[in-house]
Amino acid sequence: MESRDEQTTTQESTSINTKGYVYARETFGTVDGPGIRYVVFLQGCCYRCLYCHNPDSIPMHTGEVWTAGDLVGEVMRYRRYIANGGVTFSGGEPLMQPAFVSACIGLLKTQSMHTVIDTAGVPLTKEVRDTIDAADLLLLDIKAMDADMAVTLTGRSNHDALAMLAFCEQIGKPVWIRQVLLRGYTLEPLQLKKLAAYLAPLQCIQRVELLPFHKLGEPKWALVDRPYLLKDVEATTQEEAEQARDILRGFGLHVF
Ligand code: SF4
Repeated sequence: MESRDEQTTTQESTSINTKGYVYARETFGTVDGPGIRYVVFLQGCCYRCLYCHNPDSIPMHTGEVWTAGDLVGEVMRYRRYIANGGVTFSGGEPLMQPAFVSACIGLLKTQSMHTVIDTAGVPLTKEVRDTIDAADLLLLDIKAMDADMAVTLTGRSNHDALAMLAFCEQIGKPVWIRQVLLRGYTLEPLQLKKLAAYLAPLQCIQRVELLPFHKLGEPKWALVDRPYLLKDVEATTQEEAEQARDILRGFGLHVF
């Protein structure tokens, strides 16, 4: 039988060797969590958002393969730049690879690095719950408050996102909510009020980010075998976004 020390060493080496599929890496990210951050975009997504900026990140078993140990070693080369920020795991949907994200976060914690997971919600398995619990902050994309609208926009209901939010409220995990403002859908005042009324009582929410829909990702749709269905939908203006933010501010939320 292994001694406790041997078991710990085995767990550490498993964690260092855990492999993940990585879509892209950004060394000076400023929009995915507090401060300047190293952002790891993981490959694979269970959503099919009509406005996805990186539809080529959706297939799972492609991209670069990294071990957690090598990736964290690479991240730590940038330590002095991200010392006041940290590391964000985005995607794709990062929680489709919970073992890899969990291994990376475990290693980053030993280096006192602040960690963020940017997710749209997946089923709350024990591994997913433990991974969320280990991170310092969750960026949670609520694609739409209306379940049918969420299916239209993403191919999935909002159930997993709302269950994840309830879990964060239960364990006191800080959350930043994000939503893309899309004309005819989430930009509608009724939808914004529904979102605000749902979020306002929750203690775990530190801020809400409302992101104007834009079309910068449209050229990437040529890389996938699905049509881009938002060709005729105009980008959301900054003025419209600010009006939407004011609606949520009226409910006492911190909105950006
Ligand atoms: S959740 Fe993100 S990566 Fe996945 S389809 Fe939607 S926008 Fe694209």
